[in-house]
Amino acid sequence: MLEKNRRMIVGKYKFIWMAALLGVFILAGCSQGVLENLGKKTAAPITEENIEVAAAAENDAEPDSEGGAGPERIDTSGWVTAESAVKLPILMYHSISEGNNLRVRKEEFRLQMAWLRENGYQTLSPDEAFLVLSENRMPSEKCVWITFDDGYTDNYTEAFPILKEYDMKATIFMIGKSIGKAHHLTEDQMAEMSANGISIESHTINHLELNRMTSGQQEAEMVQSKDLFDRILHQETTVLSYPVGRYNEESLRLSEEAGYKMAVTTEPGGATSEQGMHALHRVRISPGLSAGGFANMIENASNH
Ligand SMILES: [Zn+2]
Repeated sequence: MLEKNRRMIVGKYKFIWMAALLGVFILAGCSQGVLENLGKKTAAPITEENIEVAAAAENDAEPDSEGGAGPERIDTSGWVTAESAVKLPILMYHSISEGNNLRVRKEEFRLQMAWLRENGYQTLSPDEAFLVLSENRMPSEKCVWITFDDGYTDNYTEAFPILKEYDMKATIFMIGKSIGKAHHLTEDQMAEMSANGISIESHTINHLELNRMTSGQQEAEMVQSKDLFDRILHQETTVLSYPVGRYNEESLRLSEEAGYKMAVTTEPGGATSEQGMHALHRVRISPGLSAGGFANMIENASNH
């Protein structure tokens, strides 16, 4: 008799507890999206931890995002679908200074940005570039993705003011071990640019030629640099630039497995999804280009 009572009481408390938990769950997950999310993610019994995850997911919810583009909110309502497969010029710069053929003078860079602006080119973020290439839709008929390799200080002191003045987006591929080192960007500079339209993405930790490495070494370079930039910039790092443009078949697979959505090479020309999202070509901008020369390079790497 006593045992039966005890079981009944325990049963009653269990019921009350379950009902309370259900109430919390319904409150936390009152939007359809969260309920769907929970349904997908949690085959296991619902616990408080799951509810916290659901609440966090609701805070981060992006009603406008499409195709899993990442944390950035992209309004694609005005985008146009391209008539043929998109060919996107991904411009490759290094240093904005002078002295060798990886350095483009500041005034030359300014004229190139002005030309892009005057000719109606829209600059893309990595998330936008991903949508353009993977879904064949564009925010404008004319788009470019401006990139810089290596993360030199002059990207901050010379290029950034010009990009801000023209309200342009760009992406810098930073070398993990070079952060805060001589002639390279500091953490503060990266954070400031990152908050102002300049994306910081990965150029690995040690800037070594990946095609000379074992799979394990390649994987370490890719995973550790992604973790580093994810952590210090509070972001989801989604693009990898192969150091010195060197990569092999393994690199393509490992880049995807490490969680990158795209990787860029130094193979010349416009980028297309046919090349593979982890082997995208780029247009190298060398110093001394005439205005006509620059225009030709951009136009040859585009569809139109
Ligand atoms: Zn490099």
